Amino acid sequence: MKTQRNLPILEVYGSHEQMGQQIGETFKEQIIHSLENARVLLADAYESLHLTWEGAQIQARKYIPFAQEAYPQYVDEMLGISEGANVPFDEICVLNTIEAVTSDALHLTKCTSMAVNQKYTKSGNVLVAHNEDWVPEDEPDVFLINARPDDEPPFLAMTYGGLLPNIGMNAAGICQMCDSVYPNDSRIGTPRVIVSRAVLGSTSPSQAIRSMVAPLRAAGYNHLLAHESGELYNIEVSARNFAMIYGGEEGRIAHTNHYLDRRMQAIESDPDEMISTRVRYHRAERLLSENDRHTVASLQGILSDHINLPDSICNHAVVGDPLDREKTICSLVMDLGERKMYACWGNPCQNEFTEYTLKT
Ligand SMILES: [Zn+2]
Repeated sequence: MKTQRNLPILEVYGSHEQMGQQIGETFKEQIIHSLENARVLLADAYESLHLTWEGAQIQARKYIPFAQEAYPQYVDEMLGISEGANVPFDEICVLNTIEAVTSDALHLTKCTSMAVNQKYTKSGNVLVAHNEDWVPEDEPDVFLINARPDDEPPFLAMTYGGLLPNIGMNAAGICQMCDSVYPNDSRIGTPRVIVSRAVLGSTSPSQAIRSMVAPLRAAGYNHLLAHESGELYNIEVSARNFAMIYGGEEGRIAHTNHYLDRRMQAIESDPDEMISTRVRYHRAERLLSENDRHTVASLQGILSDHINLPDSICNHAVVGDPLDREKTICSLVMDLGERKMYACWGNPCQNEFTEYTLKT
């Protein structure tokens, strides 16, 4: 028996600072809770990271001039969030640079992303699926944003706590999922959360990809990019390199948390520790290939898969190392043709999906 839990959703509009303020005011409780979680995480990991909360704020501040130069509008959004929630701006900066300030020691974001285009969907629409895996304590902090920015396309996205929204789709038919990857060329630069936030502001696949490879970026994600036309890409990014893996012709694409491109693999740190991500990747590829008429329900089924539990596609928490403890906190399927998002709060094996439509 699955539980029906509807994620909170907020419609925001106006300038970036105004949208941030609306998010901050409405989700103050979740933002403060996520700040407490980050504080506890750093305290628990002090033995290995030697980073205090104050030290994290000093580190985070180094990244902001780069963000200000590349994307001042999203720094305004973070400023708005801190004003709306009445929390220090520096603390919001820590959340949005947490992977960088902890030097990627947090091997936490073990997400799985997939997409199929018209070749393999029953409806002929492009379908995208994603499990967001993160610290279990942040599961109560997940919410959805339907935004109508003054200067960018409307979008519908998932986020949690004080993070800028970056997982979702926009009214230009652009959809982005992010998966953490672990390059060894990271530097102080524009934080990856801000780089990926910019993708939701783009109106074409090439503009989206240009945003992902912004100059002087701090590091990179894999961005699974899907366009309503059926164009599918994995854009694997690091601070100084990137690779474009095209999936539109094949019609199916998946990604987890290791680099697939050979050139990118050369700069991957600790590849021998990246076993479960490879197992999840092959499992996702196989399950995608076993159906040539995918539906929202068939993708929800793949997101609930338990092979290799607890490090399965549907990821379950295990007690242990504070730096290596995560679970699926939100599960998403998107129909780009219908502009619909099906969102599930927590593990999709235990909770129902709820349907949301992008409002423009
Ligand atoms: Zn499960």
